Amino acid sequence: MPELKSRSLIDKLISFDTTSRNPNLDLINFVDGYLKDLGLTPLLVFNEEQTKANLYATLGPEDMPGIMLSGHTDVVPVDGQNWDSDPWQVLEKDGKLFGRGTCDMKGFIAICLAYAPIFLERGLKTPVHLAFSYDEEIGCIGVQTLIEKMKHMPIKPAMCIVGEPTSMEVSLGHKGKRSYDITVRGLEAHSSLTPLGVNAIEFGAELINYMTGMAKRFADEGPFDDAYDVAHTTVHTGVIHGGSALNIVPKECVIRCEFRNLAEHDPDSIIAEIESFARDTLEPRMHAVDMNTGIDIVEATDAPGLNTAADAEVVTFVKSLAGRNDHIKVAFATEAGLFTERVGIPTVICGPGSIEQAHKPNEYCSLEQLALCEQFMERLAESVCEKS
Ligand SMILES: [Zn+2]
Repeated sequence: MPELKSRSLIDKLISFDTTSRNPNLDLINFVDGYLKDLGLTPLLVFNEEQTKANLYATLGPEDMPGIMLSGHTDVVPVDGQNWDSDPWQVLEKDGKLFGRGTCDMKGFIAICLAYAPIFLERGLKTPVHLAFSYDEEIGCIGVQTLIEKMKHMPIKPAMCIVGEPTSMEVSLGHKGKRSYDITVRGLEAHSSLTPLGVNAIEFGAELINYMTGMAKRFADEGPFDDAYDVAHTTVHTGVIHGGSALNIVPKECVIRCEFRNLAEHDPDSIIAEIESFARDTLEPRMHAVDMNTGIDIVEATDAPGLNTAADAEVVTFVKSLAGRNDHIKVAFATEAGLFTERVGIPTVICGPGSIEQAHKPNEYCSLEQLALCEQFMERLAESVCEKS
């Protein structure tokens, strides 16, 4: 197999520990410097604390829409995972590159960067935009500041390719993801006097039970989209905390839950149903004992789903770059839904490596997948450049 054009850049990007809890500025400054050396002027959009940044850069003409390549720079933690090699140093073995982020998704970013000088040298007649975000892995949070900026750009990209790992298949959709922190505020009492207290755990349990019923209803009645392994919206509680001792009626119960909705299943209607059960059924019974009790439902993350039409221009275009005619939908949430819903950019997902290898110890991307992605960029260059 020929040497990858992106190989040294993959090594470099993996060497930055950009676990979401850490600043990503070392990586961003490296990319910023690399692009400035090519004569570009990247835009950095920082978080409030100035510890993390999105990077947006335009290659080629700035007065027309063009094609955006999008990726996130953060990676999931390696804590508690049993790695056979240093996760922050690429190890090549058995036709694979091992390292945290090789597949999700620094391999793709490195390939975008490796092709930046190639696009420029061949002369772009259609611009290529690079959009690299932070804090994707903790709920598509970082990209939101970039999205606010993009909303006000006079000329927006005509289409977007999110390079999350799809094994270079063309994905037209993913589910939306909303998560909530719910705090049930009860009233403490001695456990021999339960009617004088408001048991936060038991009211929390009723709320969870109600959500489980909703989940069952979605599974039975839909809506359905058979392109997904799980063809319906799911609702799930992942964390619960409450109580301090058996002989005290607990005053607080904290629940963290999420739902993953089909793009056509309105997430506002789902949370509205949970809200109204809390307000109309549970709280009146809590207030009968004490008016200061209640249930607080706070949205933690919001990533809209994606459902790009199979006959959209972006789909035909990306299929031609990927050299295939079929398409899929993926189960995991990405930033694609945000670009489509908030900025109106038609988007598909296509990138090297498999999500099966993401987030695990010994994460890897095969050299074959990376080579396929380089071929994809080669075809993109043929399409957007003057010279071939
Ligand atoms: Zn990812």
